[in-house]
Amino acid sequence: MGALICAHDWKTSPLGPPATWPAPLRTTVSLMLSSAFPMFVAWGDELGFLYNDAYIEILGDKHPHALGQAFHAVWSEIWSDIDPLVRKAMAGEATYMEDLFLRMQRNGFEENVWFTFSYSPVRHEDGSVGGMFCACTETTARVQAEEDLRRKEAELRDLNTTLEQQVQERTAQLQISQYIVQSSADPICAFDTDYRLIAFNRAHRDEFYRIFAYRVQIGDIFPDLFPSDQSSVMRGFMTRALTGEVYTVTEEFGDPNLAKPCWEVSYSPLRDSAGCIIGAFHYAKDISARLRADVELASTQDALRQAQKMEAVGQLTGGLAHDFNNLLAGISGSLELMQTRMQQGRLTDVDRYMTVAQGAAKRAAALTHRLLAFSRRQTLDPKPTDVNRLATGMHDLIQRTVGPGILVEVVGATNCWPALVDPPQLESALLNLCINARDAMPDGGTITIETANKWMDERAVRQHDLPEGQYLSLSVTDTGTGMPPEVIPRVFEPFFTTKPFGEGTGLGLSMIYGFAQQSGGQVRIYSEVGQGTTVRIYLPRHYGAVEDETAVEGISDLPRSEQGETVLVVDDEPTVRMLITEILEDLGYAAIEAGDSATGLKVLQSDVRIDLLVTDVGLPGGMNGRQMADAARARRPDLKVLFITGYAENAILGNGTLPMGMGVLTKPFAMDNMAARIRSMIEGSKEQAHHA
Ligand code: ADP
Ligand code: MG
Repeated sequence: MGALICAHDWKTSPLGPPATWPAPLRTTVSLMLSSAFPMFVAWGDELGFLYNDAYIEILGDKHPHALGQAFHAVWSEIWSDIDPLVRKAMAGEATYMEDLFLRMQRNGFEENVWFTFSYSPVRHEDGSVGGMFCACTETTARVQAEEDLRRKEAELRDLNTTLEQQVQERTAQLQISQYIVQSSADPICAFDTDYRLIAFNRAHRDEFYRIFAYRVQIGDIFPDLFPSDQSSVMRGFMTRALTGEVYTVTEEFGDPNLAKPCWEVSYSPLRDSAGCIIGAFHYAKDISARLRADVELASTQDALRQAQKMEAVGQLTGGLAHDFNNLLAGISGSLELMQTRMQQGRLTDVDRYMTVAQGAAKRAAALTHRLLAFSRRQTLDPKPTDVNRLATGMHDLIQRTVGPGILVEVVGATNCWPALVDPPQLESALLNLCINARDAMPDGGTITIETANKWMDERAVRQHDLPEGQYLSLSVTDTGTGMPPEVIPRVFEPFFTTKPFGEGTGLGLSMIYGFAQQSGGQVRIYSEVGQGTTVRIYLPRHYGAVEDETAVEGISDLPRSEQGETVLVVDDEPTVRMLITEILEDLGYAAIEAGDSATGLKVLQSDVRIDLLVTDVGLPGGMNGRQMADAARARRPDLKVLFITGYAENAILGNGTLPMGMGVLTKPFAMDNMAARIRSMIEGSKEQAHHA
């Protein structure tokens, strides 16, 4: 640097040529040049910059043009950092800085650097400060090394803590696993990735002994303890658990000679805190007893379903009792008035009261008929059914059940296809839907019962989960509360109800669902909260016609009997006998009466001509009507029999499967209906005789 300073052109420098430099500057420069420690001098008003060989490295590419430049121009990028220190030195105060951090640009880029240095003022002979002197050393490498070390130490500390934590966690986890295994009353064990038992509880050991007479030990290969057919299954289960699956299976295992119960086994993987699978839990529960209980539950559910039906009947009865009273009042009132008018000799009025009484009695009979049909327990007996007619026929009954606050409308599709369905079951379903609708409309509203023909194409079929084809739909729509979206998927579950305890059984919709499915159809629900609900039943179309119900002719239109045809009437109720006898006489038959089965049978076993036996089923005299008829047929194999019966005696008659030549008429019956049946049975027997 000495040489450089000598050779430098100082004309442009604020310092001027060295020959003109004052003595303190010259002394300082020569001290500096002879030192091997990095140093510089800044002198004069502009602080002209002079430095030594050792300082060149610090300057980087600022060397050599830094020589003679103003100090702030040489170190412009760090000037704001060092300016206060420079001012201090120029004011006569020395400073010492250790590891001062600076961002320097001396190699064409910015870098982090650290310096330890001192600034000292350099004075003229008169004591005034002419410049400053700096001895400095770059400590970047050391500082960085120290920082590195500190970081590594911190990392090491962290690592130690993590390891310590891991050890603690693992210990805790193992303790928890042990605790879980030990605390359960059901058999639990844990095995590692080699299928070796690593833990088991007493229950596990005892149960294993019970089913295999073997005492398990830690380290046993668990699946290999099972007989070969069960072992591969077990190994499969365990492998699934070791791949991380959490699941439950039901499987029988055990030695058939000891015990082979049905087990519900749950598996879950055992992991270390890093999440790696180190084994799995095997949690077994003997569910044989529960399975047996399930079977019982199924029969209880059956009973409950029956109870639910009875509940609907109960709902009906409540509404009907009231109406029946009114009808009875109409009948007995009319009778009383008739009696009065007859005593008064005003016979012209009698006809009117008669009509009133008959009308009331007919309505009452229609209602009971429905009720009785409803309470019968039937397995599905699908018949071609006119659903329009069925719905219209139910209108009155439904209206009575839901009460006057609700308007019930039936909107039948024109040319409605017949459906293949069990009619009483469909009636029961319809009534249940209407009861649900009523419950959803505590403040009244409208129930719309609608039928429609539906052709399910490929798309619709997917949507409705039905085979492609033609269906008939029956919908019940209400204007009630609707169902929240989370309720809709649950309503078909047996026992699901949102109604207060004692009011809902939760079986209505589940029964309807089962019925629709069993009938080859489907149920769908559309509901919006606050708007209302539509429940739609799809039923398969029947291709063909519906058999017409036998048209009933009026009694007066019936042809009168031929001479001598005789009917035996057996009933313990004199009024019924009397009524039937009168009908018979109107039709021109001779009637014989009997009040019990013994008397009846005596007549039947005599040689008296009998063209038809009309008998009650429940009879005094040691035999019921059916037994009496069967006994009579031993002597008169072709005897025609018409049973008159209440629904309770249905079973005695073989639930509707009667031998040839026997028929049933359900009480209460209309007189004209009875007349038509008697007539057709006697005529039928004559036809047969002709054919023979
Ligand atoms: P239950 O009537 O005994 O509660 P259901 O199986 O008939 O049993 O109905 C189940 C549930 O479905 C009802 O509790 C009710 O929450 C809901 N639900 C059924 N029908 C309707 C309807 N028309 N409007 C609103 N909610 C209904
Ligand atoms: Mg219900």
